[in-house]
Amino acid sequence: MLDAYATVFRLFVPIVEEMRERELFELEKKLIARYKSFRSLKPKPIRIVDNVDFAARVKGRYIEVSKQFLDTNPPLKEVENTLKHELIHCLYPNYGHSIEFYNLAKRLKVADHYTLKQMLFNEVNKSTLEGRIGYRIVGGEEHYYIRKKPSWKGLKDFCEDRCIPFGEALKTLREIYGLTRKELASKLKAKVSTIKRIEEDKLNETLYENEKILRKIFWAIVSKKR
Ligand SMILES: [Zn+2]
Repeated sequence: MLDAYATVFRLFVPIVEEMRERELFELEKKLIARYKSFRSLKPKPIRIVDNVDFAARVKGRYIEVSKQFLDTNPPLKEVENTLKHELIHCLYPNYGHSIEFYNLAKRLKVADHYTLKQMLFNEVNKSTLEGRIGYRIVGGEEHYYIRKKPSWKGLKDFCEDRCIPFGEALKTLREIYGLTRKELASKLKAKVSTIKRIEEDKLNETLYENEKILRKIFWAIVSKKR
């Protein structure tokens, strides 16, 4: 009897998930219509997945929502906020929780200020790699500030603080800007192999030998017109 019940239950589950996916998709479309900032977005189909590490995430052409998150029966407001968060990611793909993300999230009242700040300052994202987030110690406390423009010094501080090799940071920044190694090399009139060597330099040898070239690469990337 128990087995039979289990079988029926298992057969039933996909239908429930399908219903939930459809409902979430309707909610997503409503949010896109409700907020001007989202109007340009094409709604992504929802896929419910088994995962305890996140409530939702953007994955390729889908927005994935955690089954475990839904099973806690979150209030509608929380589900909405979760979807709003993902829609902001859809607006700025590959940026991570950057300044752009942060500003819009603040405007749309998604998540509390503290969480947003944590994300902005602690993650490797477009803004941190552009060196736009800095901090000063005032009276033993860290005070963060946001620069309007990219800063080589800002990136340098960020990499040194977090022990991230400069080559790796520049490679990620180049990818965020959608530049190929070849395009970057031709912009700098350098060899592709030189860029490759710098990007793969885990020991920061380039920094000690020739900081100028790193700075040049940085500016060549961030000055790319979008
Ligand atoms: Zn996020």
